[in-house]
Amino acid sequence: MQLYNSMTRQKEELKTVEPGKVKMYTCGPTVYHFAHIGNLRTYMMEDVLEKYLTYSGYDVMRIMNITDVGHLTSDGDTGDDKMLKGAKREHKTVMEIAKFYTDAFFSDCEKLCIKKPEYIQPATGCIPEYINMISVLLEKGYAYEAGGNVYFDTSKLDQYYRFHDFREEDLEVGVREGVEGDANKRNKADFVLWFTKSKFDDQELKWESPWGYGYPGWHIECSCISMKFAGETLDLHCGGIDNVFPHHTNEIAQSEAYLGHAWCPHWFHVLHLNDETGKMSKSKGEFLTVSLLEEKGFSPLAYRFFCLQSHYRKTLVFSWENMKNAQTAYDKLLSKIAAMLDNNDTVDDAKKSELLAAFKAAMDNDLNTAQAVTVLYDILKSDANAATKLACIADIDKVLSLRLIENAKALADNNTASEIPAEVLELVEQRKEARKAKDFAQADALRDRITALGWQIRETRQGTEITKL
Ligand code: AMP
Ligand code: ZN
Repeated sequence: MQLYNSMTRQKEELKTVEPGKVKMYTCGPTVYHFAHIGNLRTYMMEDVLEKYLTYSGYDVMRIMNITDVGHLTSDGDTGDDKMLKGAKREHKTVMEIAKFYTDAFFSDCEKLCIKKPEYIQPATGCIPEYINMISVLLEKGYAYEAGGNVYFDTSKLDQYYRFHDFREEDLEVGVREGVEGDANKRNKADFVLWFTKSKFDDQELKWESPWGYGYPGWHIECSCISMKFAGETLDLHCGGIDNVFPHHTNEIAQSEAYLGHAWCPHWFHVLHLNDETGKMSKSKGEFLTVSLLEEKGFSPLAYRFFCLQSHYRKTLVFSWENMKNAQTAYDKLLSKIAAMLDNNDTVDDAKKSELLAAFKAAMDNDLNTAQAVTVLYDILKSDANAATKLACIADIDKVLSLRLIENAKALADNNTASEIPAEVLELVEQRKEARKAKDFAQADALRDRITALGWQIRETRQGTEITKL
């Protein structure tokens, strides 16, 4: 499989330390608010990547952090504390906010068929690991204490900026964000490993450390959580494109300084989802969530379909018009599949392999899901029989996760239900009443009349089933 690597800026074969095993780290959500559908685009594409690697035969170990401490509104250690801001907004404690929004995040993921990673770690659960890494960085001379905080000294590295997509001067913390500088820093790009002198007097979460009572910076969590589960190397690290700098740049700096060797060779970044006005932001008031899509009558999987129709390395623009088109296309796809369900064909294995080869070619080419969706339509239009088409769709859906067969079945069942004549439905109701009244003779007579009209009735624990004879 050829996968674009942001570090080398080219498509390349994914190389793993252990053959057949991928150790994959994905930066998780900051749980101070609902995830917006932009955040979820990133998680969805990472989910597709994980599933395609599994489909291709890899054993995938996937790790995700949950940021419940240390993330300030500017990724460059300035601004408000996001968790504290969320807690104040809702008059709750930070941990209450963290629990609520972690659950909400996974509920959104479930609606979008995003698989839960195998290893999930809240940042507050690894304080001893951060203290250990920071102590080693201080010992090795890569960190310094200033003004009560501990900072990483970026000047100690031969190469701090590891992704070359931007000009260095654009990347300097503070300069880029247009926020206040920190006089304690020796170099502009230095970043906080441990805060003791917090500007937030009401900071709720603090721990004892060799440098005083305080809390970790945001970046350190991903290095430590990755090493806790994956050890000293990773094969693949993922996130949204905004994570490239400073977050991933800082993760690499501290991880490699701590380990004394290279850490992760392959970096996968998902481009942003924007709305028509530009960047999506949670501070703008109402923002786009999965619940909002549902309130407006859209199914979360139609949003998944919308995202899959575009390549992860292209910025995607959301509009209600685009969403409407995606919903219509998704519904049509289900109808086409529903129409094939009732068949007596047998699967043609040779044809199936031939059709699936096109799907694999698309996905092997830098996870080209847009092309994979085209392949799906090509399969529907092909001369293969219905059983073969359905077998291909079931296979592809292990990766795309659009619940195509299940939802097509539900659609077919609904269609059947709506075709039941009113006369039969009336008799079914009368039979229900008769059974309730324990008038079994009458119930039997009603069943006979239903049968005479060509319908069969079965009472199951799940309810009444009416099928054509
Ligand atoms: P956060 O909860 O802010 O830490 O962000 C969670 C993930 O969403 C990170 O991997 C971000 O890079 C990613 N992200 C943030 N904004 C967007 C966006 N508009 N589109 C796609 N991904 C995003
Ligand atoms: Zn991270």
